[in-house]
Amino acid sequence: KARNPNEPEFIQATEEILHSLGPVVEAEGGEKYIDVAKAIFEPERVVQFRVSWYDDDGKLHVNRGFRVQMNSAIGPYKGGLRLHPTVNLSILKFLATEQVLKNAVTTLPLGGGKGGSDFNPKGRSEAEIRRFCQAFMGELYRHIGPDTDVPAGDIGVSGREVGYMFGAYKKITNRFQGILTGKGPTFGGSLIRPESTGYGLVFFVRQMYQAKGDTLEGKTVIISGSGNVAQYATEQVNKQGGKVVALSDSKGVLVDEAGITDKKLAEVMDIKNSRRTSLREYMEKFPDAKWTDFSEQYDDEEDKCNPIWQLKCDVALPCATQNELNAAGAQALVDNGVTIVAEGANMPSTPGAIEVLRKAKVAFGPGKASNAGGVATSGLEMAQNSQRMAWTAKKVEEELDGIMTRIHADCVSTSKQYSTDDYVDYPLGANITGFLKVAEAMLAQGLA
Ligand code: NDP
Repeated sequence: KARNPNEPEFIQATEEILHSLGPVVEAEGGEKYIDVAKAIFEPERVVQFRVSWYDDDGKLHVNRGFRVQMNSAIGPYKGGLRLHPTVNLSILKFLATEQVLKNAVTTLPLGGGKGGSDFNPKGRSEAEIRRFCQAFMGELYRHIGPDTDVPAGDIGVSGREVGYMFGAYKKITNRFQGILTGKGPTFGGSLIRPESTGYGLVFFVRQMYQAKGDTLEGKTVIISGSGNVAQYATEQVNKQGGKVVALSDSKGVLVDEAGITDKKLAEVMDIKNSRRTSLREYMEKFPDAKWTDFSEQYDDEEDKCNPIWQLKCDVALPCATQNELNAAGAQALVDNGVTIVAEGANMPSTPGAIEVLRKAKVAFGPGKASNAGGVATSGLEMAQNSQRMAWTAKKVEEELDGIMTRIHADCVSTSKQYSTDDYVDYPLGANITGFLKVAEAMLAQGLA
C-alpha cells in the first residue's frame, strides 16, 4: 500500500490474490514464493504517453495513453485496451495483474498486460474515433509486436477500433503482423473471437452446474451490462436452454420477464453496436419489458444495491465493469436463492460481495477463470496468424469449450488440494493455479 498510495483498484486486486496464496506458502518449501509474489506485482514496464488528436471542428484534444507490460514469464504480454474516461494507472495495473494469472490459467503461452486511454468514445463521430485510434497507435506501435506484446479490445474497443489501430500500425511499420487480436475476419481475425468471452463464461457455468449434477436448462439468468460480453453470454444462455430476464447499461436496468430471446437480442445488438445508444430504446419495440433509470452510483457503496441484483434468479453474471456487485447486491441475490454467480467482467464483485457469497456457499466463478475464454481465443488467433491459417468457427468453438472445461477442472482440483472445506473455492483454485505457473517460470528464468 505504501508503494502504491493512489492505486485502490490495484491494491484490491493484489490483496485478493495474496489472501489466496497462504496455503501455498504454508506448504512444504513454499516460502520460496514470497519473493516471487513481490516481483509478480511489480510491472516489468509501464509506458505512458500523450495522444493528441483533432475533433471534427478542428479543436485539439490531448488524452493520456498507457500500456502496462506486467509479466512476460510465460509468453508475450497479452491483454486488452480500454477507452473510457475513468482509465488511470490504478485501473490498468489491476487489470494487468488479473490478466497475468488469467492467461496462465488458460494453459496457453501468454504473458499479461493491459492498456488504454482516458479518451471517451461516447458521442464521437466515426472520423473522430478513427483519428483518435491512429494517434494512439502513433506511439503504441513502438512498444508492441507479435512476439513482444499483442493487445486486444476491452471496454470501448470493439472490432471497429481494433481495425483502425491495426491499419495505423501497418501504415507506420510497413508490416502485416498479428500485433492485435479481435481483428476483422478478412485480415487475420479469428472466427468466434467476438463471441468468445460471453460463450466461454456460459461454458464455465455449464461446468459449474455439471459439478452439482444439474444443467442450465430452464434456469433464470440475470446479466449486467449489454456490451460484447453480455450480448454473447445471453446468446449462449439461450442456446443452453436458460432464460435471460435482465440486462443493463450505464443508464439503467432492463427487465423482460418473458426472456430476451435471440430475436430480442438482435434488437439489443442493434441498439448497442450500430445505434450506440441506451438500452432504454428496447422499450420502443418491446413495451411489455420494464426499464428503470439508475438514480445513484452503486459501484463501491457497500450499502446501496444496484436494482439488477434485487431480481430473483438462479444465475447472476456480472458483465459490465469493476466493483458493480457489492455486499448489498450479493446479499439480495442470496436472499432470492441464487445458485451460481460467475464473473464476465473483470473484478465486478467487491471483497464484501465475495465474502457474502462464500458465507452462503454460493458457487462463485471469478473472472480470471470464468471470463478467460476471450483471451484464450485471442491466443488461438495468434496461433492462426503464426500459421497463416484461418480455422473454422466449429474448430475454434470446440477449442474454446475444451479450454473452459480444463480451467474449471483445474480450479476444482487445486481448490481440493489447498482447501480443507468441501465448498469449491474457485477464486482460490484460479489464483493458485495461475500463480504457481508464472512463479515457476520466473524462478527457472532467474527473474525472481
Ligand atoms: P463493452 O464496452 O462492450 O460493454 C461494457 C458494458 O458495460 C456496456 O453495456 C456499458 O454500458 C456497461 N458499463 C460500463 N461502465 C459501466 C458503469 N460504470 N456502470 C454500469 N454499466 C457500465 O465492454 P466489454 O463487454 O468488452 O467488457 C465488459 C467487461 O468484461 C469489462 O470488465 C472487461 O474488462 C471484461 N472483459 C472483456 C473481455 C472481452 O473479450 N471483451 C474479456 C474479458 C473480460 P454503456 O453502453 O451505457 O456504456
